[in-house]
Amino acid sequence: MLIVMKFGGTSVGSAERISQVAQLATASAAPGHRVVVVTSAMSGVTNLLIEAAGGASRGRWDPQVRQQLFERHAAVAGAIVAETGRRSAVLEEIDRRLDRFEKLCFGLSMVHELTPRLLDAISGTGEMLAAPLVAAAVAARGTASSAVDATELIVTTDQFGGAEPIMDATRARTGARLQPLLARGEIPVVTGFIGATADGVLTTLGRGGSDYSASILGAALDADEIWIWTDVDGVMTANPADVPEARTLAEISYSEASELAYYGAKVLHYKTIVPAFRQRIPVRILNSFNPTHPGTRVSVEGDASALGVKAVTAIRGVSLIAISGTGMQGIVARAFDVVADQQSNVLMISQASSENNICFVISTVEAPRVVRALRTALEVDLARGHIEEIASQPVAVVAAVGDRMRGTPGIAATVFGALGHAGINVTAISQGSSERNISLVVDEADAAKAVRALHQAFRLDRAPQAI
Ligand code: ASP
Ligand code: MG
Repeated sequence: MLIVMKFGGTSVGSAERISQVAQLATASAAPGHRVVVVTSAMSGVTNLLIEAAGGASRGRWDPQVRQQLFERHAAVAGAIVAETGRRSAVLEEIDRRLDRFEKLCFGLSMVHELTPRLLDAISGTGEMLAAPLVAAAVAARGTASSAVDATELIVTTDQFGGAEPIMDATRARTGARLQPLLARGEIPVVTGFIGATADGVLTTLGRGGSDYSASILGAALDADEIWIWTDVDGVMTANPADVPEARTLAEISYSEASELAYYGAKVLHYKTIVPAFRQRIPVRILNSFNPTHPGTRVSVEGDASALGVKAVTAIRGVSLIAISGTGMQGIVARAFDVVADQQSNVLMISQASSENNICFVISTVEAPRVVRALRTALEVDLARGHIEEIASQPVAVVAAVGDRMRGTPGIAATVFGALGHAGINVTAISQGSSERNISLVVDEADAAKAVRALHQAFRLDRAPQAI
């Protein structure tokens, strides 16, 4: 079996954690499996790099940052690599990568302009520092291992900050570079999060993108499974911070996983599923802090025995934009043009058939800018009274998700009954015709209460009953 396994920032957050990663990778390879490791940056490092870049672009480059990063990674190297020759090779590699980082920041502090391209070059450094350490830790356990930069493997578009893979080119490069290593019994350790354009310019796949890297590489190598090692026991029925009795879901489908990732269950990056799904490669979500827990398996079928709602999520930090009036015909297309122009991502839309009100949900950070742009673009309609108001209000979106909600009668009744019973007011509703998701807009302050009420109403604390 060929397994691509990704470890997140907390899973590689210290020397001890990195040793554990090496142990998990070598143990997984032991039965004769081929293993590719994908690593995130050590926890906190990407944020530090982004802050350093911001500071440098305002003329405040702090050389302490380089020192701090060197010390943190060198301490790990000291703890995990006993052999002096390999240790100095790793330290030199780290130093070289920090040199590049420092030069980029120094240049930035002169030109004062932080372009997305430069931000990617800087923020991608964390993975490039972590991979040599993880490879050294694997080698220290007696399995040959080399660090490989994903800039050599993943060919992307030039959308800096959120690049997309070009799969044919990625497949060719990844196979040519990694298959020989795998054939020799090595465990390659690949940097998550980054890729490069066809011309070799470093790109990133977006924050939290290492999951996506693992899925892309899994697809490129025709892996048998993709394992995402994180710090929780898989995908849960709700966020345990909202619902203490939330439970791990043993099996979910690709579509449920993508609904859940999209609707705020932070376990998976929302794009992760796409490459795996296209090739029907099962994805496992596992806990590196609790490795014997079976976690969640994501596949085509999911759990055929579970009816109705499988999980309840909440997205906070979003705002409801409402456009209302009595002359709204034809406004919708123009309004969404404006939103697209502002490059704002719409999480949910709702319009009643009277057409007197259209509302949608976007990130609160983007709301003031989008409202201003809407008021400008629809100025004439506002002046003529066709539109009465364009309003914005901070809210939460609570969603009930499950493949087999489709065709199960009574779900909407249970949802609204539970919320009514809990005294929660619902401002807007949306159900896609896939019937896999009912989304509700509630007051931000009611979010946790709403999630708890739905979790209880659908008895999600209990394992699904077989039919
Ligand atoms: N290190 C990157 C981030 O923090 C990518 C990842 O962790 O998946 O966003
Ligand atoms: Mg991270």
